[in-house]
Amino acid sequence: MNDPNLTDRLYECGAVFAKDIDKQMSPIISFLLTGVLPLILFIALGNYMAKKLMEHAGGKNSMAFGMGKSNAKIYVQSSEGIRFSDVAGEDEAKENLSEIVDYLHNPKKYTDVGASMPKGVLLVGPPGTGKTMLAKAVAGESNVPFFSMSGSEFVEMFVGMGASKVRDLFGQAKEKAPCIVFIDEIDAIGKKRDGQMGGNDEREQTLNQLLTEMDGFEGNNGVIILAATNRPESLDPALTRPGRFDRQIFVNRPDVRGREAILKVHARNKPIDATVDFKTIARITSGFTGADLENCLNEAAILAARDNRRQITMADVNEGITKMEMGPAKKSRLVTEHDKRITAYHEAGHAILACSLKNCEPVHEVTIIPRGMAAGFTMTRPENDNEHVSKAYLLDNITMTLGGRIAEELVIEDYCTGASGDIKALTERCRKMVTEWGMSEKVGLLYYGGDQEVFVGRDYHSTQGYSEETAALIDEEVRRIVDECHERGTEILKGKLDILHNMAKVLITKETIHTDEVNMLMQGKSAAEVIDFIDVKYSTEDKKTAVTGTDDGRLPH
Ligand code: ADP
Ligand code: MG
Ligand code: ZN
Repeated sequence: MNDPNLTDRLYECGAVFAKDIDKQMSPIISFLLTGVLPLILFIALGNYMAKKLMEHAGGKNSMAFGMGKSNAKIYVQSSEGIRFSDVAGEDEAKENLSEIVDYLHNPKKYTDVGASMPKGVLLVGPPGTGKTMLAKAVAGESNVPFFSMSGSEFVEMFVGMGASKVRDLFGQAKEKAPCIVFIDEIDAIGKKRDGQMGGNDEREQTLNQLLTEMDGFEGNNGVIILAATNRPESLDPALTRPGRFDRQIFVNRPDVRGREAILKVHARNKPIDATVDFKTIARITSGFTGADLENCLNEAAILAARDNRRQITMADVNEGITKMEMGPAKKSRLVTEHDKRITAYHEAGHAILACSLKNCEPVHEVTIIPRGMAAGFTMTRPENDNEHVSKAYLLDNITMTLGGRIAEELVIEDYCTGASGDIKALTERCRKMVTEWGMSEKVGLLYYGGDQEVFVGRDYHSTQGYSEETAALIDEEVRRIVDECHERGTEILKGKLDILHNMAKVLITKETIHTDEVNMLMQGKSAAEVIDFIDVKYSTEDKKTAVTGTDDGRLPH
């Protein structure tokens, strides 16, 4: 509020202040503080910088203040370092890397037969799959010095500093050869030079310096450069050409066996109950990375500690997984009976369609406890990791996603906003079917994805690489597919209204049901029978935990 006299007027009328408010500052002091002081500071800083830059240009000794120094951390082999045995799964990546370790231990073996090691090895894979960890394991396994830097550490405020850091790093590395230089998240400096307006001069110079340095040493001088990135497509082509990073090692998301092994590695220092079955957890966590799995177990451990239990149970791990995927359960949020009923029917609709459609994954859990942004959810779990996704699967999946809305239409006879997440997900999938996966006969086997495409090594943004007619056809096809799925889903649910009512009733009383209960309901068991079953199941489980002396006060779910 712009009222300069307010304070004075308040004082005049004798207002009492909770906090002392200073009277208006004297205009001279205020002028000094806001006008002159910053100016002085600014000039002083400028002087300082200028001196630094002069020193830097002045020669080798200029590095005294650490500017332009690489600050690379040096790892030498130590007993507590990470070893290959700590990295579970990823056998191919480990095999490739152990070749390098072997070379560093015994270069003569390779030079004798005229083989030279690749100069640069690029670790490529999604975040959290263990790239950084693998690089550290290489350091732990080989007896040579290991320089580690992150790409972003090269990027400085001043043009030329990054380049000088690169120079320094390679200078040090050559002195210490044989050795390994590791540059993590290399995309921070290795992005394509696009020559666009406002391009980042500093970054480009750094990259140029890196390219020069990598050319500058001969094949067998014993410096091996490891780099990691999760965006190999954004790297400058000059960086990935033979002679620089000429070998790429893919670090993929782990498969079932890999996940089991990773879980075991991370469970080593955690007290795990006998109920925890790593095989099952590995099976239901398709798509999780090593970091995700580690996080899951940690969440489970936190839950156990919170409840003052000494051991981590399978229920904790399950909750950990769900929490990671959907956010923590909001048990305290007040849900009205009306909302509960709608959610129950919505989720039951999803679950029944998932059970009825041949290609849908088995239902793992159905709940109406709100979590994250969702009012409830139906979770299906794949039996195994599928590489290929078929059209039939996608259609069934879209139909199942529509199940919530269909149930609302059939029972509530009106619809709510709760299905918006479902609608968004299925529209995206359906569009991809038509524009990217060639699954619509009318549109044909053509790629119309609107995202960035790589064209002769450059990015260009195709705003729309197709005609108006094609656009209309795509929209029409997307619409047709969704409509057909909606019709099919309605047909199925109409035939199973009894089951829908029963499942909704069970959900409203018990809030969460699992595979067993869903299967009972699908076989036509009544709501009362299933509720009894749940009561018995959890009372025996409670007894079991009572015997082991744990104090599990949490709600069963
Ligand atoms: P990235 O560099 O690929 O993003 P990190 O190497 O930083 O991933 O991995 C993050 C964490 O995930 C690691 O500290 C480790 O605890 C865990 N992790 C990832 N992959 C594995 C694995 N294969 N085996 C064991 N732990 C793993
Ligand atoms: Mg990393
Ligand atoms: Zn839904």
